Amino acid sequence: MAGSLNVAARPDWPDSPDGPGHTRGAACASVAPPRRRPRILPVFLPFAGCPTRCVFCAQDVQTGQRGGINSVGHALAVAEARLEHEARLLEAATANGVQEPRDHPAPNTGRAASAHEASPSPLEIAFYGGTFTLLSEAERTACLELAARWRQRGVVCRVRCSTRPDAVTVHSLATLRAAGMDCVELGVQSFDDAALAAASRGYGGALARAACAMVAGAGLELGVQLMPGMPGVTPEVFRADVRTALLPDTDGAAPLTSFLRFYPCLVLRGTPLAERWRAGSYVPWPLDTTVDALAHGLLAAWARGVAVVRMGLSPEDGLDDAVLAGPMHPALGQLAKAEALRRHVAAHLARLPGPPVRLGVPRRLRGLLWGHANGLVAAYAAMGITRDMVHWRDDDTFSLE
Ligand code: SF4
Repeated sequence: MAGSLNVAARPDWPDSPDGPGHTRGAACASVAPPRRRPRILPVFLPFAGCPTRCVFCAQDVQTGQRGGINSVGHALAVAEARLEHEARLLEAATANGVQEPRDHPAPNTGRAASAHEASPSPLEIAFYGGTFTLLSEAERTACLELAARWRQRGVVCRVRCSTRPDAVTVHSLATLRAAGMDCVELGVQSFDDAALAAASRGYGGALARAACAMVAGAGLELGVQLMPGMPGVTPEVFRADVRTALLPDTDGAAPLTSFLRFYPCLVLRGTPLAERWRAGSYVPWPLDTTVDALAHGLLAAWARGVAVVRMGLSPEDGLDDAVLAGPMHPALGQLAKAEALRRHVAAHLARLPGPPVRLGVPRRLRGLLWGHANGLVAAYAAMGITRDMVHWRDDDTFSLE
């Protein structure tokens, strides 16, 4: 007897060169192709606009930019040079008839765009690393003017920024939207009052929820950043945070947030959290707890059609040296996605009337199924699934018989 998992290969699962193909097999439902996003050009503004240094935060290390709050002008100059370069690539491609500029031509791999990768295409500028809405008026205007200027030239197609929940107002968001901002990411970290107090965030859960509603209400795409393992955030609190981030959960209503980011809390050198860790008053989550929580969060997000676009910090230069403790792993995202996929298969397996005989998996997830370094082979074997039972499908659907 055949069963169909009816699950799409989610947009934030890794792409393979194959991409989505034709549907094959009568028992399998076809699903939507992965969401495609423009390449991101990150413009890091470490700590710029931040009213305080949060206990866990070392933006200069996390972003690979050791510039501090006076670096906005420098960051914009670097971005300007990069955009000039991109403009030349686009012009050359167009002149050669290689490719017309398109709005959404390249999959978002979650990594910073590189001048050496992908075909030339318009970029999404992302102002990250500080509190964009609390920049000085002059700095914010300079950022927005740069984005608008390059948008007019067709080199930029979207603009996003990150900020804190307590740094937005209806008025400031309306102004941003009018100035060309498309997306605002809120560094919520948690919606739990006790956790927010334990991490000295300076706002409560109600304010964070209201900020999310404000961003979406302003017609901006909303991204929510959560921090499993932040002081006060237990696995149970994180589960509740994910549920809240995916609200509203009324029938037929889409979540306010378009995407999530999960940044497991690390102890970084030079932060107040490092002092707490040394004093024994903060203990980071172990890796297995973190992978378990992330897998749960992924499944919850995917069930609502929400992508999780990043798990863990980007591997910027100097990050390894700065991490004193915490669930750091070079393949953290792969570990969590593979575990989420295994749980999904297990849940559907339980509905089969007998033991499994055949599992169909989208070909583009070939590198994910068995886990990082084949770490899930034994777990699948325990579920009765072995390599010879798996076939790779050319569409985005899983099937289980
Ligand atoms: S507001 Fe955000 S960027 Fe600024 S210090 Fe806090 S966590 Fe870091």
